[in-house]
Amino acid sequence: MTTTQPDPAAGAAVHAADRAHVFHSWSAQGLIDPLPVAGAEGSYFWDYDGNRYLDFSSQLVNTNIGHQHPKVIAAIQEQAGKLCTIAPGFAVDVRAEAARLVAERTPGDLDKIFFTNGGAEAVENAVRMARLHTGRAKVLSAYRSYHGATAAAINLTGDPRRWPSDTASAGVVHFWGPFLYRSPFHAENEAQECERALAHLEDTIAFEGPQSIAAIILETVPGTAGIMVPPPGYLAGVHEICDRHGIVFILDEVMAGFGRTGHWFAADHFGVTPDLLTFAKGVNSGYVPLGGVAISAEIAATFDQRPYPGGLTYSGHPLACASAVATINAMAEEKIVENAAEIGEKVIGPGLRALAERHPSVGEVRGLGVFWALELVRDKETREPLVPYNASGTANAPMAEFAAACKRGGLWPFVNMNRTHVVPPCTVTEAEAKEGLAALDAALAVADAHTA
Ligand code: PLP
Repeated sequence: MTTTQPDPAAGAAVHAADRAHVFHSWSAQGLIDPLPVAGAEGSYFWDYDGNRYLDFSSQLVNTNIGHQHPKVIAAIQEQAGKLCTIAPGFAVDVRAEAARLVAERTPGDLDKIFFTNGGAEAVENAVRMARLHTGRAKVLSAYRSYHGATAAAINLTGDPRRWPSDTASAGVVHFWGPFLYRSPFHAENEAQECERALAHLEDTIAFEGPQSIAAIILETVPGTAGIMVPPPGYLAGVHEICDRHGIVFILDEVMAGFGRTGHWFAADHFGVTPDLLTFAKGVNSGYVPLGGVAISAEIAATFDQRPYPGGLTYSGHPLACASAVATINAMAEEKIVENAAEIGEKVIGPGLRALAERHPSVGEVRGLGVFWALELVRDKETREPLVPYNASGTANAPMAEFAAACKRGGLWPFVNMNRTHVVPPCTVTEAEAKEGLAALDAALAVADAHTA
């Protein structure tokens, strides 16, 4: 691997320039200390001081193909030499090819692709399509979910980040999805959790009025909120409820899609085909901003003779589409989705379960593919979280200390509230996964010190 020569002075200059002029997302500007990054390759990135980090966050769970994949870089460069930009209304080879490759992989009849510049915009458009298709206004979404930071998407989001910007939540109703470890339904097993979660959804629909509900949106496997794999039968049950009431079923696969769970889409694990499926992140590993909505034949037909009122100047941008074509082709050629499944099943899953045996701070391990969460607790018996549920993980002492210990050990973790997520690129090798598990093992000793 080529790492750039350490150059602390250059790093200090980048840091100073950043602090002078960059206003960072999701941050109190005076309380942050962003790491100056000098470069990245594969599963690693490095700073200007010579520290290299194994990226167990995949940035924001998006670099599924790893950093700086040569085929994707070459495709972007080639497209830049050919056609950098063209308005969304034109037919272009690279956009059509990206749409074909996505449509070929999405489940069932999701054969029309509306491109966006990212995940939240995909969610905004899916909701708009559902409302126009049904002529209804309300949208149901789950607590313990994340759907993005734009107007509709943040209102759909079922976590405390919604509160400060919650100015326009009209039409959004939240309900509880299944999560056995902290069961909202006091269930004792997965079958009970599934049955009670479906009954709760039925009740919510009955009290809201099925005729007023345009859509139910769910993350297939809720990611940011804790990687909670739904019990068998839950998603199929939601689908059946939607069909019965003429409600559009939207699965948000912005985080779970494109290999993360060990299948192209998480929906493949559960044999469900939604009416609309949102994607972003892994579609091109974020090399150029891209997302989209995969649309069923029935919903696409709504807009056959009637214009769809949506789209931005950069929708389906050629550079983004070229990077998606190269990413999807490389993932297929190099069997990257299969790698995610195998490393998850053989190395990461068993490795994390072994850590849970050894460490009193690990309350639960859950996940699939390269999409895992460790729930850190003060007490395994009571399941009291290591930091309160709505506390920002990295701003809170035990989790901040845990994150710092990971970084000292050369591991960049994804810490959220009382959890650390284990979400390396889908290209992660067995040796890298083991290196990361060893670093986690050492850092968990810091969390153990805070247990009861
Ligand atoms: N939906 C899900 C499930 C996500 O995980 C995210 C981002 O993490 C989004 C939507 C929003 O995506 P973006 O940040 O690209 O707007």
